[in-house]
Amino acid sequence: MQLRVLGSFGGDSPYCRMTSFLIDGCVAVDAGAITRALSIPEQRAIRHVVITHTHMDHTTSLPFLIENTFGSSEEAVTFYSTARVLAAVRRHLFNNDTWPDFTRIPTQLFPAVRFVQVEPEHPFIIPLPQGVDLEVTAVPVNHLVPTCGLLLRQGSSSVLFTSDTGPTDRIWSVANLTNDLVACITECSFPDRLQRVADISLHLTPQRLADELTKLTRQVPVYLYHLKPPYVDEIRRELAARRFTHHVEELEQDRTYPF
Ligand SMILES: [Zn+2]
Ligand SMILES: [Zn+2]
Repeated sequence: MQLRVLGSFGGDSPYCRMTSFLIDGCVAVDAGAITRALSIPEQRAIRHVVITHTHMDHTTSLPFLIENTFGSSEEAVTFYSTARVLAAVRRHLFNNDTWPDFTRIPTQLFPAVRFVQVEPEHPFIIPLPQGVDLEVTAVPVNHLVPTCGLLLRQGSSSVLFTSDTGPTDRIWSVANLTNDLVACITECSFPDRLQRVADISLHLTPQRLADELTKLTRQVPVYLYHLKPPYVDEIRRELAARRFTHHVEELEQDRTYPF
């Protein structure tokens, strides 16, 4: 799969876009910065969005994506997530208050957006127009709001994206059970001196990241996202100084990774 990094940060600044990835040009994973990173034709190619949780750094561009793609296809853009996340997206974003309810526009029968509810640990298929279909499995992680990481499989290679999480176990077990795992993407949000903030907000520091990676028994590269913009330099220094059990590198915004 071709995974393009549209935004790889846990906050917003002129150089840091919020979390969103694009797979094979047509599936978005989270939506923190889709409309800031892509041209209008590129946005119109997106037919599917998988949402890991409701935090704004993962959902902010959803309303603008739907506005920008409106009328460009007879088919609705499909949002995939768990029941609680979809309910919150409807309640807080597409509520006819913050933004129009595009699940009923232009008509209830042919809306611009449709929601597909997924169940944790039940794989589902996203059909891709060109190439091999994408199989996605949502795995709950440990964050302030209901959040699922994702196992993304295409053909015979899988990439694990933990989404935002504090220390957690199940998703690392899933990674260890995945024979065709080629890479993991996980978070590192705060420097070590803000461990307390990381604990309260259920995020990782370089120290906790090192602890988490001891749970990953597969020797695959680990890519980091979600550095908080005010601490980027400090976190990078700490990451460079620390030894990990795995190859660890920061995910590069705007780069496309062939996994
Ligand atoms: Zn986040
Ligand atoms: Zn979050």
